Amino acid sequence: MPVYGKISRRTVLGIGAAATASLAIPARAHAASSTTGSGVQGLRAARVFDGERLHADPSLVLLCGGTIIGVLPEGSDTGRIPVTDLGDVTLMPGLVDAHVHLCFEPTGDITTPSLEDSDETMLERIRLNARAALSSGVTTVRDVADRGYLTLGVRDERAADMPEILCSGPPITTPDGHCWFLGGVAESDDEIVAAVDERAARGVDVVKVMATGGTLTAGSNPFEAQYTVEQLRLLVDRAHRHRLPVTAHAHGAPGIAAAVQAGVDGVEHATFLSPTGVTVDEETIMAMAAAQIFVGSTAAQVPEGTASELVLAVAAVLASEYRAGVPMVCSSDAGASPEKPFTCMPYGVVQMRDYLGMTDQAALRSATSLAADSCGVGNRKGRIRPGYDADLLAVPGNPAADVMAMLNPVTIYRAGRLIPSS
Ligand SMILES: [Zn+2]
Repeated sequence: MPVYGKISRRTVLGIGAAATASLAIPARAHAASSTTGSGVQGLRAARVFDGERLHADPSLVLLCGGTIIGVLPEGSDTGRIPVTDLGDVTLMPGLVDAHVHLCFEPTGDITTPSLEDSDETMLERIRLNARAALSSGVTTVRDVADRGYLTLGVRDERAADMPEILCSGPPITTPDGHCWFLGGVAESDDEIVAAVDERAARGVDVVKVMATGGTLTAGSNPFEAQYTVEQLRLLVDRAHRHRLPVTAHAHGAPGIAAAVQAGVDGVEHATFLSPTGVTVDEETIMAMAAAQIFVGSTAAQVPEGTASELVLAVAAVLASEYRAGVPMVCSSDAGASPEKPFTCMPYGVVQMRDYLGMTDQAALRSATSLAADSCGVGNRKGRIRPGYDADLLAVPGNPAADVMAMLNPVTIYRAGRLIPSS
């Protein structure tokens, strides 16, 4: 087992790193079918995975503007609505990546650019990274490491060629703690409360706190808690008062336990890293399952060579969390390191099956409906249902039988708009 000091960034991040069950015709679709020139369009696919389960028969998904307005069985009378036949594909919701770092270039050095790059350079990178994610089928990203609220600015541009962006602003951390260089340092109780208030005033979608150090920040300790339970509870209560969810970065058991006891909504990583490899705290896993705290696996990466002993150990921990009933979300940590480019999310779906023991359908859920739920947007993202955003992905064959299909998306729609293949 690797020991503290010998754990490389690469190995740690390797893993650390039925609403339409009957496909009933909704009233709105009937209304639409008698209308022409209304902006309604249909997409025909051999199968539909609706974010929760597969419908194995050919179906027609109706869109109007940026919204799904109906799902019909093939052969339904659709009047003069233009229909695009997508062929032998499965139409599914676009992927939701609940953990990305749009400010980072995936080189492995997150500190120097964060301290030195101009806002213009950073903004260009954020837009480029967001577009790359969309090209791989990711139609929603949650950014959890902003600098100077730049990502919020890009979010609010609502550009048609980007995924929807959800933002945390700079993560809240201790002096010299994980990602201190992003500007979110808060030490005293007053500073913690002020930091949450500032993020709420800025309009963030989630509050991110660094509950332990991180492997990419020199001098921080990923094995130990950065805040006490009381401090984290203060933070969580304040965020919840603003109706904001909290997700906590945590590797070591003390930080995970503190975050869970404080009532966070999500834990990122949850690797149980320790100086001797991984040291699991079963009680905390049971507490996460009981409270249904989302765990962001941050496991997606482009595969390279044989997985290390530590990567496999962390994967085994995440698999045990999943088996214990913890809602396990497929996410990427894109931008954190070279094997995590912004196009790596589809590999994560495969890894949820191959390393965490999910069925193919469960792996698909973890990157769509469950991921959307974890980001607080499960009422409009991650499912194919009337009223939901028309963020769609067509993949060849049947990914519910073999998620390898995710690696070759053929068509991507963002808010009802076809994204040209790059
Ligand atoms: Zn991260």
